[in-house]
Amino acid sequence: MAFYLDHAATTKPCEQAIEAITACLREHYGNPSSLHRVGLDAQLAMDGARAVVAGAIGAQPESILFTSGATESSNLALRGAASAYGRHRPHIVTSAVEHASVRETITALEAQGFSITRILPDENGVFHAADFLDAVTDKTCLISMMLVENETGRILPVAETFRAVKRRYPHVITHCDIVQGFLKLPVKASALHADLMSMSAHKIHGPKGVGALYTAKGIRLIPVTTGGKQERGLRPGTESVPLICGFGAAVQYMQPTIDARFAQTQDLRRKLLAALSSMDGITLNSEPEGSPYIVNFSVHGIRSEIMLHYLEQREIYVSSGSACSKGARSGVLSAYRIPEKQADCAIRCSFSEETTPEAIEALLCGIREGQAQLIHQNMH
Ligand code: PLP
Repeated sequence: MAFYLDHAATTKPCEQAIEAITACLREHYGNPSSLHRVGLDAQLAMDGARAVVAGAIGAQPESILFTSGATESSNLALRGAASAYGRHRPHIVTSAVEHASVRETITALEAQGFSITRILPDENGVFHAADFLDAVTDKTCLISMMLVENETGRILPVAETFRAVKRRYPHVITHCDIVQGFLKLPVKASALHADLMSMSAHKIHGPKGVGALYTAKGIRLIPVTTGGKQERGLRPGTESVPLICGFGAAVQYMQPTIDARFAQTQDLRRKLLAALSSMDGITLNSEPEGSPYIVNFSVHGIRSEIMLHYLEQREIYVSSGSACSKGARSGVLSAYRIPEKQADCAIRCSFSEETTPEAIEALLCGIREGQAQLIHQNMH
């Protein structure tokens, strides 16, 4: 039996999403910008999905822009806001653990002349709202902070930080990458005090290649791409109506079960953390208070890829815990002061409602046997 424990990387599309996509490909093939009925039909299908996605974060449909995924959403949010608001305020505050889609975009803005403050966690790996607030000045145009960090599952104090920033510096635009929290934790735009939020469909059993950007009323963005008037002119190009419908269907599938899934996953994660803590040669890289959906740990003396492929032979699919993009170290674990040697042995497991106690048992068994065999092999 195969156990897929890499849901933070991507999820299997749900049947509802697959059905919505195929139905849309067959029935709503029009261009939503066309003025005739076939176009209107596609437009209506897309409007339905927009209302569903907006509803999931307590927002109005007109605040949702569809994109090709969270990477594009964050590019549009950060580059768009920096162009619109950064001329006289060329400073950006962000966390040191952002996903590459935010991290690299901010690095590109730095190369264009923006000054960047990257906030580190304290020596216990905990982020403090005060550290972000203290970094903001009259020259800051933008703050970008992710909700759930995708390598260890730490939850950042986004609501507390954004509320404090908005109170003291109302002009600062707040952006949050909510990808790993969307429909896993209860996320509402207003409660988060976020002006901009990036989302992705393929992390919530929707299709790949579609996502959304939430934009609060009155927020100006300069578009990154130029073309037609689609998506308020901010994301020109004919919309992928089938993928958008699949996204909407996945949101509808996931939304009613946020609390039940949270409790179920929390229970599994607690058991896994307890078991890992009692094993020799394992160090946890996640915190007990983190997202229930992600666990990161290091198996001493066995490099991530070696353990990953050992588990793969047993049809247990995990991720190497420190390397997001194909073997390149992301620097997230080192931001938590996790030593390089430990980071090189990190494994990330990530869950969904499909994860069973048997999967956790199989994982623990695989790691125990892997420790015995691989360390033994290493010694000979
Ligand atoms: N942000 C986070 C936290 C992620 O985990 C991911 C996915 O890897 C992304 C952004 C990128 O999302 P997408 O694949 O939709 O561009």
